[in-house]
Amino acid sequence: MKKHNFSAGPCILPQIVLQKAAESVINFNGIGLSLIEISHRGKEFIEVMENARSLVKELLNLPEGYSVLFLQGGASLEFLMVPYNLLKVGGKAAYLDTGVWSSKAYKEAKLLGEVNVFASSKDKTYNYVPKNYKVPADVDYVHTTSNNTIYGTQLKEFPKTDKLLVCDMSSDIFSRQLDFSQFDLIYAGAQKNMGPAGTTLVVVKDEILGKTGRVIPTMLDYQQHIANDSMLNTPAVFPVYVSMLTLEWMKSIGGIPAIEKLNEAKAAVIYNEIDRNPLFKGFAEKEDRSLMNVTFNLVDESNKEAFDKLWSAAGISGIKGHRSVGGYRASIYNAMPIESVQILVDAMQQLEQQVLK
Ligand SMILES: *Cc1c(COP(=O)(O)O)cnc(C)c1O
Repeated sequence: MKKHNFSAGPCILPQIVLQKAAESVINFNGIGLSLIEISHRGKEFIEVMENARSLVKELLNLPEGYSVLFLQGGASLEFLMVPYNLLKVGGKAAYLDTGVWSSKAYKEAKLLGEVNVFASSKDKTYNYVPKNYKVPADVDYVHTTSNNTIYGTQLKEFPKTDKLLVCDMSSDIFSRQLDFSQFDLIYAGAQKNMGPAGTTLVVVKDEILGKTGRVIPTMLDYQQHIANDSMLNTPAVFPVYVSMLTLEWMKSIGGIPAIEKLNEAKAAVIYNEIDRNPLFKGFAEKEDRSLMNVTFNLVDESNKEAFDKLWSAAGISGIKGHRSVGGYRASIYNAMPIESVQILVDAMQQLEQQVLK
């Protein structure tokens, strides 16, 4: 039986993408060679890379002036590459601290300069998104994390600033409509909503680069990657190809506007149940709830064994909460069908019948 995969990452991908990906490993596009044994400099793979990059621009509806890169090292390496490329020598950066990933990001930036955390929700285990903050004016860039994968919160508004705006969108890119042109740099590890682990998407406005006065090691330099079309060294051929397939799938079902509608419908099904069912409570503040990662707890922990039995018998996988939050986390990324969300809700209702009968 195919399980219902609620894992926070690596994540569920569309079945059709997995099928095409599997075929490509044996015989890529009928050329009699495997995708993972052909040259990345050959025309077959160059087409894949070009197509993936242009689909990103199209789906995000980006104006001219942005470059799209597929790099390696995960979103975690971007924590370092961002300050290397944007923090001026002797300059400052400002970070919005909304969770573990944001704090890892500013720790890296601190290696290169003065970093100011201008607002944080750490006081309440990051169960909300700070608001009414003052964005520092004397900085080179402002860093945000659009979706907090571990805590299940999501930014609905981004800081208003005339400084460069950077966003880690690892866990909600392509999931909702935003004015993506408000950002100067976006990055996202592929494995939360786009493909397998092994490649990281970076979208960057060309004109902001090359201004730090810093010597940047080649592999950390966005300008070098841009000049070499994301092929400064051997790219992550398979993850880029699978990401391209997912991007094609997203386009085929109507792009981000259609995906957002589906995501809102899925999230409503589960949040409504969390709020209705007396045995459960949500973790994140309602107004900050994520459409991607739904965090919730049992009101009475003594029901844990019974609930765990119910969902695992229903073929559900990957809903254990992160250790810092406990409870449950249902990640309902783009490829998650609403039917699977309903199966989880059914398990929650079965628990209610068992306990309250
Ligand atoms: C998972 C995650 C990361 C880390 O991604 P890697 O690709 O594993 O380095 C960073 N930021 C956010 C928001 C994440 O969800």
